[in-house]
Amino acid sequence: MQHYDLIVIGSGPAGRRAAVQAAKLRKSVLVVEKGRRVGGVCVHTGTIPSKTLRETVMNLSGWRERGIYGRAHRHKAEITAADLRQRLAITLDHEVEVLEHQFTRNNVTWVTGSARFLDPHTIEIDTAEGVRRASADHFILAVGTNPHRPQAIPFDGEYIVDADEILDLQQLPRSLTVIGASVIGIEYATIMSALDVKVTVIEPSDSLLSFLDRELIDEFIHDMRDRGVTLRFQSVAKRVRLIAPGAVQVDLEDGRIVTSAMVLFAAGRKGATEGLGLEACGLAADERGRIGVDRSTFRTAVPHIYAVGDVIGFPSLASTSMEQGRIAACLAFNEPAHAPPEFFPYGIYAVPELSTVGMTEEQVRAKRIPYETGVARFRETARGHIMGLDSGFMKMIFALETRRLLGVHIVGEGATELIHIGQAVLNLGGTLDYFIENTFNYPTLAEAYKVAALDAWNRMPKKQPSAEAFDRLTQSAIERIAAAGRTR
Ligand SMILES: Cc1cc2nc3c(=O)[nH]c(=O)nc-3n(C[C@H](O)[C@H](O)[C@H](O)COP(=O)(O)OP(=O)(O)OC[C@H]3O[C@@H](n4cnc5c(N)ncnc54)[C@H](O)[C@@H]3O)c2cc1C
Repeated sequence: MQHYDLIVIGSGPAGRRAAVQAAKLRKSVLVVEKGRRVGGVCVHTGTIPSKTLRETVMNLSGWRERGIYGRAHRHKAEITAADLRQRLAITLDHEVEVLEHQFTRNNVTWVTGSARFLDPHTIEIDTAEGVRRASADHFILAVGTNPHRPQAIPFDGEYIVDADEILDLQQLPRSLTVIGASVIGIEYATIMSALDVKVTVIEPSDSLLSFLDRELIDEFIHDMRDRGVTLRFQSVAKRVRLIAPGAVQVDLEDGRIVTSAMVLFAAGRKGATEGLGLEACGLAADERGRIGVDRSTFRTAVPHIYAVGDVIGFPSLASTSMEQGRIAACLAFNEPAHAPPEFFPYGIYAVPELSTVGMTEEQVRAKRIPYETGVARFRETARGHIMGLDSGFMKMIFALETRRLLGVHIVGEGATELIHIGQAVLNLGGTLDYFIENTFNYPTLAEAYKVAALDAWNRMPKKQPSAEAFDRLTQSAIERIAAAGRTR
């Protein structure tokens, strides 16, 4: 039996970052991965495939040009499931290669097999070649999640599918019912709708993505309805059944019936802790399979065992999982590590994209912070015109007293990239003045930051510019007048 400084269970974003970080600290590391290849949900069924699918759909459907050439515009007249799968395979192969190379370069050993604790320092690994054992001083559990599959739903992998199975689509459905307006449910609902699939979303609550700013969601819902997505809020699916090949009936509790060619069940995921033998190391998962940790150190109740990534619950993002993995690996070996930042960006790759950082207007109001908002519509920017954007907006929230940026909320093209400007200013404690006093590339969508800031500025009590800011503004005005004189 081989002994390691660290054993990492799971090779998704959290596990792989933890493993590489520990290896960089010159520790011996074993990664155990039960999937056929390394990468986790992120590479094989989650982030990367869904984003590749989205990009393929955006390209083939000509979605980005529809504002200019009309809603009927398409790059490829007949889009098939095979078109969508082809690009997926290329991207995933590349991602796995990069990852394996990273492990090799950093001397991380990995083994394919399912890990189970025998005692707090020993695991058993069930591999294709047989069962073997390994022990370690420290463990990082990065086992992720599996789609929640209630008994009552007759999943068949073809017409009634979960979020993993939808990637194996053999043909595009003409219509799709999505049960659960979760992030994953909404991403797939809008991606399919961009392919002109008729989509119905069934959601028990009275809205969707309730952790986002209300105004953002109102715009997003309006956009979805405008292109024909049916949203049935306060509706609960009572029964799902296949009534004929390519015809699935969903009975709602209120007596209504929704029939479509396919149903995607996307209401929640469960921590993949079953079979991990947590009891043998003194740990237990909650009813959703999640492991409890100290949120600043990611240490479990057993001091030499850490848990990171989706298995610890919110925010369940690849981006945050990676950071958690890195922090846990540092702390396990007494290396200093920064605490996870208070504000991180949240990106939702629906069509259109949504992204947010900092506080929502509802949160600011609940904290009774006096504030003002500024809004910019993408169609008001030159870049938006060039791109033919007729929707999309950015909203910024500023504290009235300090003028500090409190939150940025974006819906529309490029939202998940644009958000990082707001994130930087927010985390560096920046104010409204940053956006007013700085120059942005023109024409860009990022210019929306300036437009939104000026919108807020117009409504805020005026402050005299600082002496330096005044000098800068005067100097730039003089230069502009001189330049105008030269061109005349
Ligand atoms: C459809 C979808 C879209 C998403 N889109 C985004 C996005 O756009 N942006 C974003 O940031 N996040 C996104 N996510 C979330 C992101 O994929 C997860 O946050 C991320 O994968 C979590 O990483 P992880 O390392 O915790 O676990 P995972 O990636 O889930 O990896 C866990 C690994 O552990 C392995 N494992 C489990 N049990 C054992 C065991 N007993 N022995 C050995 N191995 C085991 C599993 O096989 C798996 O490979 C998406 C998720 C889904 C499902």
